[in-house]
Amino acid sequence: MSPSVRDGFLYSRNRPPNKMSGLLLRRDMDLERAFVAAGGLLLAGADPVGFNGNIPGFGDQREIELLVEAGFKPVEAIRIATLNGAIFLGRQDQIGSIAVGKNADLMVVKGDPATRIADIENVEIVFKDGGGYDTRKILLAASSFSLVKADRLLDPRTGNVISPAAVLIENGRIKEVGAPSRVQADAPAGVKTIDLGGATLLPGLIDSHTHLLLDVIVPAEAEVPRRFNGVFVPGLLLAIVESPSKRVLLGAQLAREDLESGFTTVRNLGHSGIDGDVALRNAINAGRIPGPRILASGRKLAQQSKNGYVQGLNPALAKAILQQEFLDVNGPDGARQAVKDDVFYDVDLIKVAIEDDISVPEMKAVVEEAHRQRLRVAAHAISTGSIQTAIDAGVDSIEHGNDATEEQLKQMRENGIFFDLTPTSYGGFFPRIFDASIVMSPGFRSRYDVGVEPHRQRYNSLVQRILKSGVKFAAGSDMGWFYPRPA
Ligand SMILES: [Zn+2]
Repeated sequence: MSPSVRDGFLYSRNRPPNKMSGLLLRRDMDLERAFVAAGGLLLAGADPVGFNGNIPGFGDQREIELLVEAGFKPVEAIRIATLNGAIFLGRQDQIGSIAVGKNADLMVVKGDPATRIADIENVEIVFKDGGGYDTRKILLAASSFSLVKADRLLDPRTGNVISPAAVLIENGRIKEVGAPSRVQADAPAGVKTIDLGGATLLPGLIDSHTHLLLDVIVPAEAEVPRRFNGVFVPGLLLAIVESPSKRVLLGAQLAREDLESGFTTVRNLGHSGIDGDVALRNAINAGRIPGPRILASGRKLAQQSKNGYVQGLNPALAKAILQQEFLDVNGPDGARQAVKDDVFYDVDLIKVAIEDDISVPEMKAVVEEAHRQRLRVAAHAISTGSIQTAIDAGVDSIEHGNDATEEQLKQMRENGIFFDLTPTSYGGFFPRIFDASIVMSPGFRSRYDVGVEPHRQRYNSLVQRILKSGVKFAAGSDMGWFYPRPA
């Protein structure tokens, strides 16, 4: 909850009720007590609708306090909001009390709400199914000032380490960085402080190329040749036909995991349905869910008549299916229209996938229209020919760029085009994913295993060539697969 929402909540909550609403509240309270006296099972449900301070979370806590003000003992009010609810839901064997065999749902509050019900607001940590949610940290993040201290702070601009170090945060921005004694002196008295001791502070990590709303399904080995209809199928096709609501919630999970892994900014480059990454970005910006800052590209522009993503679809449905994921680049006018279609959904940049099937005039139209709308263009290009098309059209970054020649690296440097390195298959990436998903025959496995070393060498030499060429570069994970955590 943002500080302003909390202020609004406290304002309307502490406002004395007018005569009519005070009367209605009294009558409701009398009814509740009479209901319980008659043997009824009273439940808690604040029906948060947003006005009169009735919002989810804090408004729900307030309801428990109101039960006490209605005449129930604090323990009775807590029972109404715990065990009674579990009985009503038919789940009293799983939740509603702290007992052996039940789900580990625990609320840890400071103080003693059994004697002072207002302590119900002093939540420290909540465990749901044993997973902890640090409420205090969440509230601290929303407070206007905080001071973070640690033994070291790494400045990637200079490579210098400040030790020890402190950062003063005011309303979400860094107000001061430096030695703790100096920063502390400039902090307001009583500032909320997190002292991390032997830790190191780094800037939030940035992933320049990701796919948060994609979960590629790996087909069983025997199904690959039997069902082949494009390079990503069936994983991509299954993603496209999924409910958009389900996909955006997958995105919410991966966004949270990215943030918890240290990534505070990501560029999401396609495979999000029509507007999934935009909706996810907006929900994170509005504070509805946790996640990194997202630069969303919306739908990927591609030449659909020949592209290799999905092939051989039912002709009666093919267009409707593909439109959920791609925008067609068909001639310069079609290319311009595709950019406008993404702009309609308020994207942050344009992603276009080039194989050797998109012409320079088409790509130039994409770049021209995007730049006219003040959007950058990220071009997926792997082959030498497609990389040349991207360079000639004046894109802003080349994604992957595996087969770039020396001459092309030079052109990229001269034209200020970024090289966004995505060593997707580095270090036996695919065999590791397959191992977690399917059973591989020795022959199938060895086909991937023999590729591990050459792949490693190719990427290593590509990195060396990029460094030597002086081209500006960034790094992206290209994640869109379930990736098992290394043991
Ligand atoms: Zn990608």
